[in-house]
Amino acid sequence: MPAKITVLYVEDNPENRLLVRRVLMAEGFHVIDAESAAQAIIAINTHSPDLILMDINLPEIDGYTLTTRLREDPRMNDVPIIAMTANVMKGDRERTLEAGCDGYIQKPIDVDLLPEQIHRFLKEVGRE
Ligand code: MN
Repeated sequence: MPAKITVLYVEDNPENRLLVRRVLMAEGFHVIDAESAAQAIIAINTHSPDLILMDINLPEIDGYTLTTRLREDPRMNDVPIIAMTANVMKGDRERTLEAGCDGYIQKPIDVDLLPEQIHRFLKEVGRE
């Protein structure tokens, strides 16, 4: 049996963390979560995630800033970072890409679509 894919979800909202954990665990992923940028950095060093789901609106350091910092780390070169945000103003999507995200999943989270969206991003970088 192949090793489980590890997904790190950076999200300050506990209900969203629970929801995504449930959906992704049912799909067979190993799920790690972090409620802040500081926690995310620790989680990355400890768990080497295969993919990161990144809430944009985080306290202190936001998801754009965190993504830009992570992209400076060569270990993160082939780790997809997917923004998750309810911001749908014109330019928000461009801003996530400029920050270094590989894609964008709009909130509210569609639990029926989420696993398929994650598999697609993993395949793009050959992690699946
Ligand atoms: Mn948030």
